[in-house]
Amino acid sequence: MNPSTDAALPAALAAPDAPDAPDAGDWLVDAALAPLAGGSLAPLYAGAAAGELTLPFCAACGLALELEQRACDGCGATDIRWRPVERAGTVHAVTLVHRREPGLVRVTEPYPVLDVELTSGHRLIMTTLTATGSAPAIGRPVTVGFRIVGGVAVPAAALSTSEPSELPDPSDPSEPSDAATPDSPRATGTAPAPVPSETEVSQ
Ligand SMILES: [Zn+2]
Repeated sequence: MNPSTDAALPAALAAPDAPDAPDAGDWLVDAALAPLAGGSLAPLYAGAAAGELTLPFCAACGLALELEQRACDGCGATDIRWRPVERAGTVHAVTLVHRREPGLVRVTEPYPVLDVELTSGHRLIMTTLTATGSAPAIGRPVTVGFRIVGGVAVPAAALSTSEPSELPDPSDPSEPSDAATPDSPRATGTAPAPVPSETEVSQ
């Protein structure tokens, strides 16, 4: 038997619900999974490094564009302008990902991946700012903060922990239909990355 039985748990494992992990690394993934900050999304990451959420718009008509979009849905223009937006939105859809991959994924419990509808009109996929093993409710307000993965700031949702100031629509207490199409051929899909780039949104 090992005599040093009073050894504490590793700090990274001791407090999965800690509100802030100073500089111990990201709560979810290893630094090896850090995104490339200099690619086509460079404006996003440059803004994130400064604490801003910078997203693309059509330079011609101002429509909010997807991150990798090359032409505007509205007017067909290909001139894109990135600018900071309000870091606020609501949970549009959420997936609870069950993934165990020691060495890359740091958590051993499920983690949520959110499709956040931002007030800017964008939709952005992200996980939460801190570890949580449950999926936040659809419609829950979020503020976008940033995780630091391998030195790169990436958007992440900070969920309100204060008491709810407004209740969800009480006229619809029915259960959310999270399995609307059980025979869907995509029902067995797994997330290939901690923050997958696609979600099923049928609305
Ligand atoms: Zn346009």
